Amino acid sequence: MAVQRTFSIIKPDATNRNLTGAVNAKLEAAGLRIVAQKRIQMTQAQAETFYAVHSERPFFGELVEFMTSAPVVVQVLEGENAVLKNREVMGATNPSEAAEGTIRKEFALSIGENSVHGSDSEENATIEIAQFFSGNEIVG
Ligand code: ATP
Ligand code: MG
Repeated sequence: MAVQRTFSIIKPDATNRNLTGAVNAKLEAAGLRIVAQKRIQMTQAQAETFYAVHSERPFFGELVEFMTSAPVVVQVLEGENAVLKNREVMGATNPSEAAEGTIRKEFALSIGENSVHGSDSEENATIEIAQFFSGNEIVG
């Protein structure tokens, strides 16, 4: 498996509790390199675009409201097999099902307020990175 890039978000429940550094420590310990990072206030339009795949789900309104409720940290992570590696270190969507040592097991509050996002495929990573970063902001 070649070196890949994936897109990550440290969500409002984590930024609110000052866990940016703690999350980054977990990512780096897993062998992921943070090659771009910025703290932003996501707009409603950005959140709706980002989670458009879930627009018909009952929790969509709640999800958009949550993602715009406080600043988030958007990131590009790089490493061998980065998409899968990040999903592993994140843990399951529902923290009660997340494995020991994962970010969501340790920090997430609920299935909604689950501390981090990570791309689920290399194809989606490319799309998500392009929504938030221009090429010259990513420095490997
Ligand atoms: P993410 O896309 O944020 O990395 P994920 O891929 O693990 O998470 P998805 O199924 O893509 O999970 O859901 C996207 C997000 O929507 C979840 O991370 C969570 O914040 C929210 N979500 C998912 N299911 C529910 C639910 N049943 N109730 C409330 N929020 C939910
Ligand atoms: Mg997802």
